[in-house]
Amino acid sequence: MTAQILRGGPLATRIREEIAESIHRLTKMGGEQPSLATVLVGHHPAAEAYRNSIVKTLTRVEIHHRPVDLPAETDPTQFLANIQALNGDPRVTGVLVLMPLPDHLPSDLVLEHLSPLKDVDGITPTNAGRLHMGLPSLRPSTPQGGIELLDHYNIPIASARAVVIGRSNVVGHPLASLLMQRHATVTVCHRQTVDLGSICREADLLAVAAGHPGLVGPEMVKPEAVVLDFGVNVVDGRIVGDVDYDGVRQAAAAITPVPGG
Ligand code: ADP
Repeated sequence: MTAQILRGGPLATRIREEIAESIHRLTKMGGEQPSLATVLVGHHPAAEAYRNSIVKTLTRVEIHHRPVDLPAETDPTQFLANIQALNGDPRVTGVLVLMPLPDHLPSDLVLEHLSPLKDVDGITPTNAGRLHMGLPSLRPSTPQGGIELLDHYNIPIASARAVVIGRSNVVGHPLASLLMQRHATVTVCHRQTVDLGSICREADLLAVAAGHPGLVGPEMVKPEAVVLDFGVNVVDGRIVGDVDYDGVRQAAAAITPVPGG
């Protein structure tokens, strides 16, 4: 058996069309064109690559981009002054701080000081708390994208046994909340989980966001399993996920490719 490949491309095209259409309606009614500030401190290659892909998308949906480039040696006071300025600027509707930040700037500075109203990544305590309580909020895009991908392919979530590997604030933890709100029975695994394999083998939905290439092999999935691989790792110059794609493809019912899922 080979798994169904859950590609994100068709869904992304549809979402971009919906966003472009809603922005068009908004500006026709006299609303301001939305504007996203991306804050890049220093020149980390992963952060720069993420910004390039964001800029490409913004151009396609006609969201204005405000690049904010700060030198790697920016100190916490200067960094916070920039965040506060963006919070208070009415021409900026969203702010995304590119990670990773240099070591001397803890990411908590962003969580604690970014306006929840401009927090498009859904990382501030207000948005995270609202998400975990099931209230309307700005949601982290990666786990929200996972749910939308399952819906796009008509994969049932309610009553499914879901296993999430990883408990980060941007992927694993919010994904577990979103799955629970859709009535899945959710188990969250992390570095100190004992016997990961036997827990994964129970999963109808297996979501992996650990940053550990090859973590999930074919012996860890049951034949009916749907596998969502959120991992983004560079191995020998290639981008790979956390799942042994070639192996698990032969063992599961459906899988997301990396990249392309
Ligand atoms: P991301 O933001 O992509 O979710 P992080 O590096 O912030 O990634 O978090 C990684 C998460 O994955 C942590 O919650 C950690 O406990 C979990 N994790 C990492 N390695 C393993 C592993 N070998 N087994 C199980 N969980 C793991």
